[in-house]
Amino acid sequence: MENKKLSAYDEDKIIDIDVGEIIDEYLNEESRPKKVGAYYPSEIGMCIRRGYYSYVTPKPTERAALRIFALGNNVHSFLAAALKDSKEFSLVEEEKPIKIECDEEGASFTIYGRIDDYVITRATNKKIIIEAKSASDVSRVEEPDPKHVMQIMLYLNAEQADYGLLVYADKKNLAIKQFRVDYDNELHKKTMTRFKDLDYHLRNNKLPPAEFYFDTKKVWECKYCPYFNECMQAIANGD
Ligand code: SF4
Repeated sequence: MENKKLSAYDEDKIIDIDVGEIIDEYLNEESRPKKVGAYYPSEIGMCIRRGYYSYVTPKPTERAALRIFALGNNVHSFLAAALKDSKEFSLVEEEKPIKIECDEEGASFTIYGRIDDYVITRATNKKIIIEAKSASDVSRVEEPDPKHVMQIMLYLNAEQADYGLLVYADKKNLAIKQFRVDYDNELHKKTMTRFKDLDYHLRNNKLPPAEFYFDTKKVWECKYCPYFNECMQAIANGD
């Protein structure tokens, strides 16, 4: 086959290509406003005020965060492929959708989620919910994040599964740290109460308290909150 020599024009075109920009265009999500009454398990452990703002004054996800999510998705796909290949399981369902309806105490809403991996063990017939989370340094993960525990609690209840596994995978080297999560009825109730709380504030157009700002263990998250400025202004105004 004849080797075609690049013209100066072609070379310029190649140098002009900005791969970072191409990645950002690829990742650019369509902004779909969220609807009051449709809530998501992965968000309920976050500050309720932040959740409220994400419905009332949504902001597009920042580029850097979209790239981090993309890396995380690669880790999830890899884990799902490994589980499907394993002889340990008689069933592996990836991205299993769940829908939880709540219609009580004046609250009416639906929770939409996706279980990363729902597996059934071949030897013991145990139903296990696996939630994979990517981490920048898994050696520093000493306990499961309460937000992730709340998320898995909803799935355990919805699927009546035997237990859950929270699997943290290091994005640098795929080192794994895993935690077993057993069903806890009190924590499930507490998680549902958070949804009711968010729903109440949204339906009544009331700004929820600045939950994380007044929690010494969680205030560090405010630094990464996209609604920091609005929230600080609201606090200054006495809200
Ligand atoms: S800045 Fe902190 S308290 Fe305010 S909405 Fe964000 S996370 Fe919540």
